[in-house]
Amino acid sequence: MKPLRRALLLLLLASLAMTARAQTPQPALELVVLGSGGPGATGRAGSSHVVLVDGVPRILVDAGPGSFARLGEAKLALNKLDLILLTHLHADHAGELPGLVKARAVSSGRPITLKIFGPAAQRARQRDDADFPSTRRFVELLFGRQGAFGYLRDFSAPLTFQVTDIAASTKQPRVLLNEDGLRVTAIAGHHRDAPAVIYRVDHGGKSLTFSGDIDPAGHAALRRLAADTSLLVVNSVVLDPPDSPPVLYTLHTAPTQTGEIAADVRAGQLLLAHLSPAVDGRRDAVQAAIRQHYAGPMTWAEDGLHLVP
Ligand SMILES: [Zn+2]
Repeated sequence: MKPLRRALLLLLLASLAMTARAQTPQPALELVVLGSGGPGATGRAGSSHVVLVDGVPRILVDAGPGSFARLGEAKLALNKLDLILLTHLHADHAGELPGLVKARAVSSGRPITLKIFGPAAQRARQRDDADFPSTRRFVELLFGRQGAFGYLRDFSAPLTFQVTDIAASTKQPRVLLNEDGLRVTAIAGHHRDAPAVIYRVDHGGKSLTFSGDIDPAGHAALRRLAADTSLLVVNSVVLDPPDSPPVLYTLHTAPTQTGEIAADVRAGQLLLAHLSPAVDGRRDAVQAAIRQHYAGPMTWAEDGLHLVP
């Protein structure tokens, strides 16, 4: 082919490819895993996800240690991120919040309002146990005027926090936000003594549901919120009994239970997240247990994984 004709052909192909890309509709929802591990320092960041709404990173779900670095690696623009959903206030889920909030603060010179949702306070049930602060108090301790990082309120851009506590008595789905076709709902979860919340994000006919860390006392709530969800994210820390330490079954969900729940709610996809080394090291057994009940697409979380429900 003559050089000129070849150049024209290449130009035509390039413009066709660009048109095709421009016409590809943006997915209504996307999920980026920032942290797929925790609490042990195993090379995975602690539990954390970003939800993209119409291609825009809008929602942070948990803020586990290490997620700050993963956020930068994922090259996600932060300047529209305005919702933070905390499943519970354990350090492997909330420990990186100050670093991420500062990254958000320096992402824009404009005033920022962060809406933060999380569990309400819980007094210790036994004398030697610790109290859990409410999410409002937690944010106050970090970013309030007397807080550890109070300077962040006007460090880069004026920063306002709107914090909502979700009570453990929230047994029916509660709508937290419903604007421009984006709906966020929550229901109380159960993570032994730590107050916990299960979240669901709906947009454009798709949905993501996050179990958080959950023990069997929270399964009815998870089933209620996750009905027909497009993508169910289940934290996966233990093996089926008796292969994990007994105490962990009072905190977490076993693979057979995960399979039952995913099947019962007719989940479009299942993502196994917050992977412990025990689960990671016995993937065949975990998968076989889940497959007894659930036949849909199943993915193992990795830091940086991008999923479209
Ligand atoms: Zn955890």
